[in-house]
Amino acid sequence: MLERDYELGELPRLRDLLAEPQGAVHATFAFSTSASGRAGAEVTVRAVPLLVCQRCMQGFGFALQSGSEVEFATGESAESADAERELFGVVDGLVSLRELAEEELLLALPRAFMCDTPLTCGRAPSYASGEQSRDAGEMRQPFSALQDLLKKT
Ligand SMILES: [Zn+2]
Repeated sequence: MLERDYELGELPRLRDLLAEPQGAVHATFAFSTSASGRAGAEVTVRAVPLLVCQRCMQGFGFALQSGSEVEFATGESAESADAERELFGVVDGLVSLRELAEEELLLALPRAFMCDTPLTCGRAPSYASGEQSRDAGEMRQPFSALQDLLKKT
């Protein structure tokens, strides 16, 4: 079994979801051959990425641990229609362990991630105050925005 650690900030597809690029993922790879003779691996990942809460837009640590079995697929995906496990593309017979770990991480993330602070969550920074606004376009009608806020309370 192989063990690897990767910086989260070095995983290009995950990076866009991170509030801060700090932290690392610990991954293990146990290679095996399926009953039908195909090469595959059992991949596990453990990480605490700092994600942006999709309700309040604050960064928060999301502890995740996940594992799954993948099967390596070479070019002809038609051949693999009867695959028993999740397929992972292989280029020139080489498997990128880093991409394997990243894939597993992305699969483990919930579709919409939210922080665990009910007191503040859901209160995204308001543009009505003006000072936090970076986009002037949002500020064209500050008073109507304020009115909307007042209606809600
Ligand atoms: Zn939140």
